[in-house]
Amino acid sequence: MTLKRPRPQPRWTVGGLPVTVRRSARRHTLSLHVAPGAVTVHAPARTPESLIESFLEAKRAWAERHLAAYAARPGPAPLADGSPLPFLGETLTLRLTTQTRAPFRSGDEVHIPPGDPDALRRAAERWYRQAALPELRALVEGYAQALGARDRLRSVRLSAARTRWGSCTAAGDIRLHWLLARAPREVAAYVALHEAAHLLELNHSPRYWAHVARLMPGHTRWRAWLKEHAHTLALG
Ligand SMILES: [Zn+2]
Repeated sequence: MTLKRPRPQPRWTVGGLPVTVRRSARRHTLSLHVAPGAVTVHAPARTPESLIESFLEAKRAWAERHLAAYAARPGPAPLADGSPLPFLGETLTLRLTTQTRAPFRSGDEVHIPPGDPDALRRAAERWYRQAALPELRALVEGYAQALGARDRLRSVRLSAARTRWGSCTAAGDIRLHWLLARAPREVAAYVALHEAAHLLELNHSPRYWAHVARLMPGHTRWRAWLKEHAHTLALG
């Protein structure tokens, strides 16, 4: 479940970014999470705002250092003939060819027509989407089956959501971000399992995580990979 309820947000900023505060009854300590373009404080449900504010001030220098490091990081290299295209653990090679209008894969090469950087990115995304959908759908269906929840799964589609890798609705509609096709297969499999397990538990309770751990005992490793490497998946 990735539902996000809008809440009135305090007006704190760090490094020019608004600070999102997430309160949770299950949490007992304050923590600060910094990601490119996002600063989030996780707080116990009843923490007074004054306490959050002083916590934020104590951590401000640390957070701003991280945000500056993110900003200094080089962006993805622009696509060109010969660019590596990671695909679920394989590394394919981009080939620009005037022989085709539609992108296609042949062996370890993906062929797309030449064009300006935007056109190349669009064509590559088109290829990723058509190649990824059957693979990601098969992963979700396999996990839904293994969890005994196949009959609860209604659809699997790709998304381009800005802030989430996957989602699952109560009706059984699962969405996975197409950029997962550029991650190692285990990472895509983890997100597929993460959402398939929501067919049984639409929450992140210990019962939910027990389903995930039963089918993928090492899942925390892939979850950490995604947090750490998300920025490397963007297309040039
Ligand atoms: Zn979830």
